[in-house]
Amino acid sequence: MEKTCDLCHRYPVKTTEHHLIPKQFGGVEGPTAMLCTACHRQIHALFTNEELASFYHSIERLQDHPAMKKYLRWVKKQDPEKKITTRKSNRKKR
Ligand SMILES: [Zn+2]
Ligand SMILES: [Zn+2]
Repeated sequence: MEKTCDLCHRYPVKTTEHHLIPKQFGGVEGPTAMLCTACHRQIHALFTNEELASFYHSIERLQDHPAMKKYLRWVKKQDPEKKITTRKSNRKKR
């Protein structure tokens, strides 16, 4: 499924659901964002679930973090069609 990423707004990208409040902190029913793999990985690399739950539970706050700003400036220049995560091309159609 090809969509627009809620964080970097690139299109078309494959998105995965991110729980703005991590499930272990009660976010099971909470709001979610659709993020491309690169953004999703970046967020979880940068923030602990505790930080996500306590402060970074909105797209605006995530975008406002200095490291995320830097990342977003970079990722927007990347071709959304190109995989920037791995070099393996293991394209399986589902
Ligand atoms: Zn993204
Ligand atoms: Zn997530």
